[in-house]
Amino acid sequence: MSKTALVTGGSGFLGSHLCDFLIEKDINVVCMDNLITGRKTNIKHLEHHPSFTFINHNISTHIDYAGAIDYVLHFASPASPDDYIRYPIQTLKVGALGTHNCLGFAKAKGAVFLLASTSEVYGDPLQSPQSETYWGNVNPVGPRGVYDEAKRFAEAMTMAYHRTHRMNTKIVRIFNTYGPRMRLNDGRVVPAFIGQALKKEALSIYGDGKQTRSFCYVSDTVAGIFRLLLSDVNDPVNVGNPNEMTILELAKTLCHVAHVSCEYAYKELPEDDPKVRKPDISKANRLLGWKPLVRLEDGLAQTLEWFQAHDRN
Ligand code: UDP
Repeated sequence: MSKTALVTGGSGFLGSHLCDFLIEKDINVVCMDNLITGRKTNIKHLEHHPSFTFINHNISTHIDYAGAIDYVLHFASPASPDDYIRYPIQTLKVGALGTHNCLGFAKAKGAVFLLASTSEVYGDPLQSPQSETYWGNVNPVGPRGVYDEAKRFAEAMTMAYHRTHRMNTKIVRIFNTYGPRMRLNDGRVVPAFIGQALKKEALSIYGDGKQTRSFCYVSDTVAGIFRLLLSDVNDPVNVGNPNEMTILELAKTLCHVAHVSCEYAYKELPEDDPKVRKPDISKANRLLGWKPLVRLEDGLAQTLEWFQAHDRN
């Protein structure tokens, strides 16, 4: 008999790709989302699929679902800096109360639980690359603290349920991921640059553009998450692409892929913007046999193509 997964935040960028992936693997999906940053259009193609159910619900309140559930994948949260700064209290609540509800629900169902955590738990890291053993450098009272601390609390709560109730839990620390279905105006650097390139505008570079990130294409991220879900690993695992570059290098690559000339508009660097970010993925590689496969140029070309065809807002 096929298994069933509850995906919270299943209408978001990453959540919707995860729903697609699970359905391809013959797993029924119950997608729960209150659509504050997720979008119905991301799951429109699944609307009439016999293995797919959508429930509009805020999981920071009690979760009710009568059927059997084998996996709970907790992806609900505003996830771009602009979004979590716009919804600070919802972000804290979904990371804290939402995670607690999901864990309680998974316990009641006897389900495997997977938490979507983040590289933001490392804050503005003093160690690079970041391995899972690094405890991070987070400003709890800065603007990003609402997301960083919510996810750190969520990790602590997950481990408490694992240790206390002997639940089979997983924690994936997801590094910058990009691809189709991001919102053009979510404030993240890849959709921001793509929107500007499509309108032939100068690319907005925050600060001097020398801060680094490492960008993973969404199909690679989802494949890593699925391997973790089926593994016997209970400690946190980084999933991301270790191909580190400066934001200026990303801008140059995007201009090349989009065939536009590179012009920059320099803007103020947001408060607490991490100076470096690069995942150490040796643990995922060793324990899950996973590594990213999609080259940045190819992933950006596919993302650009999707935005050209689908979404110019
Ligand atoms: N950034 C930028 N221009 C933009 C949006 C973002 O230069 O229009 C920078 C931002 O300051 C950060 C990096 O790109 O250093 C990645 O930002 P994003 O919001 O995508 O996610 P973060 O990794 O900061 O969570």
